Amino acid sequence: MAGIWILGENRELTGELLTAGGELAAATGEKISVLLWKDRSRAEEYFALGADEILVLPELPEDVPPEALIPVITGEAKTSQPGLILLPATVRGREMAARVAAGLGTGLCSDAVAVRWNGERKTFEMERLAYGGMAVQKVVFRTAPAMATIPPRTFAPAPEKEGRTGTVRELPGPPPSPVRVVERKKRERTVRDLREARIIVCAGRGIEKQEDLRIARELAEALGGEIACTRPLSEEYHWLPEDLCIGLSGISVKPELYIGLGVSGQVQHITGIRDAKVIAAVNKDENAPIFQTADLGIVGDLYGVVPNLIQEIRKARGQ
Ligand SMILES: Cc1cc2nc3c(=O)[nH]c(=O)nc-3n(C[C@H](O)[C@H](O)[C@H](O)COP(=O)(O)OP(=O)(O)OC[C@H]3O[C@@H](n4cnc5c(N)ncnc54)[C@H](O)[C@@H]3O)c2cc1C
Repeated sequence: MAGIWILGENRELTGELLTAGGELAAATGEKISVLLWKDRSRAEEYFALGADEILVLPELPEDVPPEALIPVITGEAKTSQPGLILLPATVRGREMAARVAAGLGTGLCSDAVAVRWNGERKTFEMERLAYGGMAVQKVVFRTAPAMATIPPRTFAPAPEKEGRTGTVRELPGPPPSPVRVVERKKRERTVRDLREARIIVCAGRGIEKQEDLRIARELAEALGGEIACTRPLSEEYHWLPEDLCIGLSGISVKPELYIGLGVSGQVQHITGIRDAKVIAAVNKDENAPIFQTADLGIVGDLYGVVPNLIQEIRKARGQ
């Protein structure tokens, strides 16, 4: 093994991967290299966060797709032979990871929530959630390099250390790509990215009519939070866009506070909120499964409970 590689997509995610990489570097005695394909100017910052080497990926012309970088990465990996490659579990990171793993003929653990070095067996071991979060799957690598994508906010950002420095190396340009980009269109987002929200009010099927979503919106507004929903509300009723659906087929969120209104708490939904700091729920059924997960619960009719809650919150916040 020769080193731990991190694909640096942006400052925040790279800081988190440097925390994971830093622990593994200490355990293995290996150095950390960050591959920069954006934010090239950040080399000094990444040294301060724990990187030992920056590998600068070549700048691509506008009409060349990012996939053209794959042979550059795999070519360098075959020469340098890193023992571990970590990528952020973003849309771009996931795609790159699959292509790099295929190019290197190695395995990939997607959405790893833990990465460890087994010093006895001299192998990397990872954990990921399986069966909608009902089980934790252990992944043991028998191929090299070990590879993983890591979801945002799985690790805290690495702290800055003064006086750290390292080397910067430019990687060669890509071989000619048969693919040309003819047009780029920005995806229109209708809502804010819920993964960044600190407070989330989630509407479930306990809300009877579309116009009653107003109750969830008002509670979110009173708390300075965002509204979200369970899958039936986005997929069956089309009351809210699917970007707002939380769970197995929706998104996973990590707010400081999640409040479920008329949400039963099926495992496919809970898997998307298990990293919320505080989970609260209003449900009229005291046996609703969400109460097994919730830190705070109110058994009652949301149509009676929530307006009172909004009034009290507004009073307390002087609104
Ligand atoms: C492969 C697969 C993937 C899935 N992915 C997702 C996913 O990503 N996200 C997701 O959310 N679901 C997902 N589901 C669906 C999931 O299994 C549940 O069906 C869904 O989460 C239920 O949504 P709900 O809690 O809003 O509705 P329900 O299960 O119908 O629950 C409604 C709750 O509201 C309560 N209630 C009713 N009236 C009131 C009232 N007036 N006041 C207070 N409480 C009230 C009821 O007691 C009940 O507990 C998936 C399912 C499958 C099979």
